Amino acid sequence: MQKKQVSRYSRHIILEEIGEIGQKLLRESTVAVVGCGALGNVIANHLVRAGIGRLRIIDRDLVELDNLQRQILFDEQDVGSPKSLAAQKKLENVNSEVEIEGVVKDLNPNNAEKILGDVNLILDGTDNMETRYLVNDVCVKKNIPWVYGGAVSTYGMSMNIVPQDTACLVCAFPYLPRAGSLPTCDTVGVLNTVPSIIASIQTTEALKILMKKEYNKELIVYDVWNHDFKNIKLKRNSQCKCCTDRNFEYLSAKKSERTTVLCGRNSVQIIPALESDIDLQHLAARLKKVGNVKLSPVHLVFETKEAAINIFKDGRAIVKGTDNETQARTIYAKYIGN
Ligand SMILES: [Zn+2]
Repeated sequence: MQKKQVSRYSRHIILEEIGEIGQKLLRESTVAVVGCGALGNVIANHLVRAGIGRLRIIDRDLVELDNLQRQILFDEQDVGSPKSLAAQKKLENVNSEVEIEGVVKDLNPNNAEKILGDVNLILDGTDNMETRYLVNDVCVKKNIPWVYGGAVSTYGMSMNIVPQDTACLVCAFPYLPRAGSLPTCDTVGVLNTVPSIIASIQTTEALKILMKKEYNKELIVYDVWNHDFKNIKLKRNSQCKCCTDRNFEYLSAKKSERTTVLCGRNSVQIIPALESDIDLQHLAARLKKVGNVKLSPVHLVFETKEAAINIFKDGRAIVKGTDNETQARTIYAKYIGN
């Protein structure tokens, strides 16, 4: 057993920066990746190959054909499968020593502490600021370090957030940008090498933090196309409402039904106020009478003339074919009920 482990990680063990001690610390770590898109794919891949102990991969979406341009863990045959489970399956074949848990859920104020509260470190692979502020709230509250990352167009950013030591996300960016004010991969595109580079920087910083080494305390901004690299100094804000006042605005958001228009995808996501545990087989039998149904262990795809709906076991649904929230709610109520 010992011999097998040495050979698998030998290139890290002979590296001065990691060594036997570092490798042992990685082995004892539990890490979560929030979002399993282009960043999350590369992060999860590096962490599993590096031999961390446990990895939780959280993602709400299904693999789509236009993800394959940059999301390295997925193949054509994964299209239509939940991303976190497709990634789990691929990575279990890469390193069976790592305990990997794919979670098919939308991270929201109702479940964030439960999903993230027991890990040693969190990496950001999300595509929106609201979820990042939520992760920041959990991390500051529970004293968990996290590594922010983002990639769009030809550039990306990364920043380590270690509660009590560095600036938090709210210190650096005090206000949530207005919806539609930031460029997104859906609206301006993304060069497929950018997420790989940014995610590699994020993972390097995560390894340093897990191995209790010195880590970067600046905001890194890198334009890969123009080879323009900037380090921006950040300071803790002594009046920060999150890390000073401990006012966790995103985490304490009201629990209600939430709908989100999924930008650029002509889809609306609906999350019921209370998480349920739907009997998918039972629902499939009912819906078969009014449309086409495809069933997997964790979700069901239902198609009628008016829309296609992906329904997950916890009651969450993605209604495709509309970007109108009221219409999506109506379709949800009509076929799934409350
Ligand atoms: Zn702060």
